Amino acid sequence: MGTQSPEEVLQEYLRERGMLMTPQRKTLLQLFLEEPKHFSAEEFYERVKQVDDSIGQATVYRTLKLFTESGLAETLDFGDGRTRYERRLGREHHDHLICIRCRDSIEIRAPEIERLQEEVAGRHGYELTDHALYLYGICPKCRGKE
Ligand SMILES: [Zn+2]
Ligand SMILES: [Zn+2]
Repeated sequence: MGTQSPEEVLQEYLRERGMLMTPQRKTLLQLFLEEPKHFSAEEFYERVKQVDDSIGQATVYRTLKLFTESGLAETLDFGDGRTRYERRLGREHHDHLICIRCRDSIEIRAPEIERLQEEVAGRHGYELTDHALYLYGICPKCRGKE
């Protein structure tokens, strides 16, 4: 996937499935690329509506699924029952630290944890292909209110 643009990745994914790059999909891709780091489907739909209210909620949700399946996006579980999305293509792997009070999150990159996970998987005879690590806690701002 190295040097492909998001549009090329989506185009190829759609072509392989006999689907087309419609103007709606193009608009949704553009908006997806402008999203903040982590967002829910509801939040995304709210922003889509402001730009083009002819795009229905079902289309928006289905397209987010396409983005995920094609590798453009990744789903996140911040532990509140609400799926969040983030851009995957062209971003470095990271994990998340999440505040259970305000749902604020921080992206963490810790080579020592990455190494340890590979080592643990290896001990069980696994070759690690992917992982998701979530650290839940109370952020400094929320701790200050205690
Ligand atoms: Zn907090
Ligand atoms: Zn992230």
